[in-house]
Amino acid sequence: MSRQALDELKQQIPLLEYLEAHDWRPVRRLSRGRWMGLCPLHDDHKPSFLMDPSKNLFYCYGCGRGGDVIRFAELYHQVRFPQALDLLRRWRGSVPLLHEVASFYRVHLHRHGEAIAYLHQRGLRSPELIEHMRIGYAPGGCLRGWLMQLGYPFSVLRQAGLVNAAGYDTFSRRIVFPLESSFYGRSIGNADPHRFLPGDKGGLYDWQQVRHCSQIILVEGLFDFAVLWQAGFHNVTCSLGCHLNARQFRELCDYRGTVYVAFDSDANQSGQSAAQRISSCLASQGVNARRVQLPRGHDPNSFFVLGGDTQQFQRLLEEARL
Ligand SMILES: [Zn+2]
Repeated sequence: MSRQALDELKQQIPLLEYLEAHDWRPVRRLSRGRWMGLCPLHDDHKPSFLMDPSKNLFYCYGCGRGGDVIRFAELYHQVRFPQALDLLRRWRGSVPLLHEVASFYRVHLHRHGEAIAYLHQRGLRSPELIEHMRIGYAPGGCLRGWLMQLGYPFSVLRQAGLVNAAGYDTFSRRIVFPLESSFYGRSIGNADPHRFLPGDKGGLYDWQQVRHCSQIILVEGLFDFAVLWQAGFHNVTCSLGCHLNARQFRELCDYRGTVYVAFDSDANQSGQSAAQRISSCLASQGVNARRVQLPRGHDPNSFFVLGGDTQQFQRLLEEARL
């Protein structure tokens, strides 16, 4: 492989993205955008792994190892240089496949009445919204055949997590939302409600669209996102669960406006305690954060589904406090 091809590969795979896809979490922020975290290469108890996103380099003060994304792949997967290149190329290559899959699911959305009925039940009606979020439907039992017909080998589908070991589609009877390099599937039947393809959930949903807004609303779930967007709040983003990953947290830390955290107000308090934790964490980083108090037992989705409207939600935003 030529020097130039190596540089290209490294450019296409930012080290931080690769680290986060392998569950690395930055812990402490340093100057010049650098991060410290636990070292994934040795048994680390205090953060000794330094990561510099602008240089795409890492260095561990504990085990003394460092380098670029290729070096990281070698050490992490314990393979030699050529195998590390293979792994990285394959990792990068799964992205076009996921685009293909997203189009497949979108076509199926309109062929299955039960999928549209489920969207209606959750208050999602606007065609612009379905277009904006590229919402699709996985009926199950037909993705594998279609992709193999297109020439994708079974091993590639398996590796992307689209089929399970027995050869069945991973997503079946699920409303599907494409993420950066994965999918979120919400069951419309009795199966486990939330499922992601293997891999990282990525940064905040739709972040590029909202990061320049002077105020943003942060929600837990994509169905919350959807009803707010539909109600005209286009400054909404979503963390896909009440735990922010390091990249999502960093995005908010670098944000200079007001963050309204509108998490579920569920009976077990998990949404509200997460909202509190996130707000105070952001406040300590100098971010103006406020918690939106939804009526007890509600999340933004149920708030709108049960008759809440734009003005009422606007009032909740105005009443929000740290
Ligand atoms: Zn180390």
